Amino acid sequence: MRLILLGAPGAGKGTVAKMLTKIDGSVQISTGDILRAAVKEGTELGKKAEAYMTAGDLVPDELIMDIMGERLLQDDCKPGFLLDGFPRTIPQAEALKALLEKLGIELDFAVNLNVPREEILRRLTTRRTCVDCGAIYNVISMPPKVEGKCDKCGGDVVQRDDETEEAISKRLDVYNEKTAPLANFYKEEGLLLDIDATSSDDVVKAIQEKLAG
Ligand code: ADP
Ligand code: ZN
Repeated sequence: MRLILLGAPGAGKGTVAKMLTKIDGSVQISTGDILRAAVKEGTELGKKAEAYMTAGDLVPDELIMDIMGERLLQDDCKPGFLLDGFPRTIPQAEALKALLEKLGIELDFAVNLNVPREEILRRLTTRRTCVDCGAIYNVISMPPKVEGKCDKCGGDVVQRDDETEEAISKRLDVYNEKTAPLANFYKEEGLLLDIDATSSDDVVKAIQEKLAG
């Protein structure tokens, strides 16, 4: 499958993407994970992106398109891909459209995960992430077996730098201003699947039904 996952921070894009990769071997591509890895490794990309990320701002479109232009050419994308956190702006969506046309690749659809704002805030303030493998936990609903340690790789499980209350509120504002308009963009393309995303299991079911036609 070839899907775009849209939705506010905390809507469950990463969780849904991980569930979907197990169904048919499509690869999850998370621009947030790619950027965090670059920051951790101290690469040129990481140095350019870090300040934007910590502040809860978007990284400039050109940088993101450089990353994704290369990433989508890699062999593991051939069976399919789940774009998690990209595109995030109208210019990114337009650049992606041109890129896919050039490559002769068609999207199945763009899924918009809708979650009420109070639930988003609750999820983000209780979310914890493995610094090594990116696995996501929740202190209330899904804590790691050993506090602060990743079940999968033993890495440290921490609250992200951009998950302070101030940065979260900034990210939600940026989302409403820059990313929410993408739902309309994909609606006009005839590609939008709008879903109530309070339960990630229900989202996966709805996507499978839609794919089955
Ligand atoms: P979220 O939990 O907000 O969905 P992500 O892990 O997707 O978080 O992204 C974290 C940060 O990385 C964003 O706040 C932003 O600074 C940067 N980022 C990720 N994807 C993009 C993108 N497509 N365009 C611009 N910035 C991005
Ligand atoms: Zn881990």
